Amino acid sequence: MSEDTDLATRKMQFLYALRSKGVTDKRVLGAMEEIDRGPFVRGLFSERAYEDMPLPIACGQTISQPSVVGLMTQALNVTPRDKVLEIGTGSGYQAAILAKLARRVYTIDRHRRLVHEARAIFEELNLHTITAITGDGSFGLQDQAPFDRIIVTAAAEDPPGPLLGQLKEGGIMVLPVGQSDAVQSLIRVHKTANGLEYDELRDVRFVPLLEGLGKD
Ligand code: SAH
Repeated sequence: MSEDTDLATRKMQFLYALRSKGVTDKRVLGAMEEIDRGPFVRGLFSERAYEDMPLPIACGQTISQPSVVGLMTQALNVTPRDKVLEIGTGSGYQAAILAKLARRVYTIDRHRRLVHEARAIFEELNLHTITAITGDGSFGLQDQAPFDRIIVTAAAEDPPGPLLGQLKEGGIMVLPVGQSDAVQSLIRVHKTANGLEYDELRDVRFVPLLEGLGKD
């Protein structure tokens, strides 16, 4: 098999794995077909970019499992008019997928290095609607609030208050919450005129949402 055919096969298997794990929304699948996970995984693990596995990235962090990225994106129900905030840029993969579905994406990470590396990939892929910012995302991004959608890709004990405050009425937030490092619960919050409604989606495992900035 030539290298190209091999890559095409792996990409097809990648999309098949997403569907078989419940990612059925056509727009989400389309965005995940368009955004190649390859450039977001560097070095040693780049060969495994098309496996449905979380993989290590710089700064001791991880790029999430593609099916979890798909399920979270699907739960967020992004529309083309939406302004979206992501906490936990990591590799930039989730933000790139959101950029295919939303009008505008803001993404924050506490590691400067991850933000710089993600920005370089966004440039390369001509994803000009993403703004990546170094900061403690627990406080959200007051200047750009309110947001139609908020996604948090690191686990907190509870949904951070400032993020709930920066969610528009009618908006949706998807995030992992839980006390344990081993397993957390992925939840969806709807902000309605009558207050917040919560639903639990599934068990997940994310790196923790930490305070302050990282060393690099
Ligand atoms: N969405 C990423 C994966 C995120 S891993 C992707 O698609 O690759 C979780 C990320 O959350 C890590 O990069 C970590 O540095 C970041 N993080 C943890 N606590 C944070 C905080 N308080 N503010 C901003 N980012 C944070």
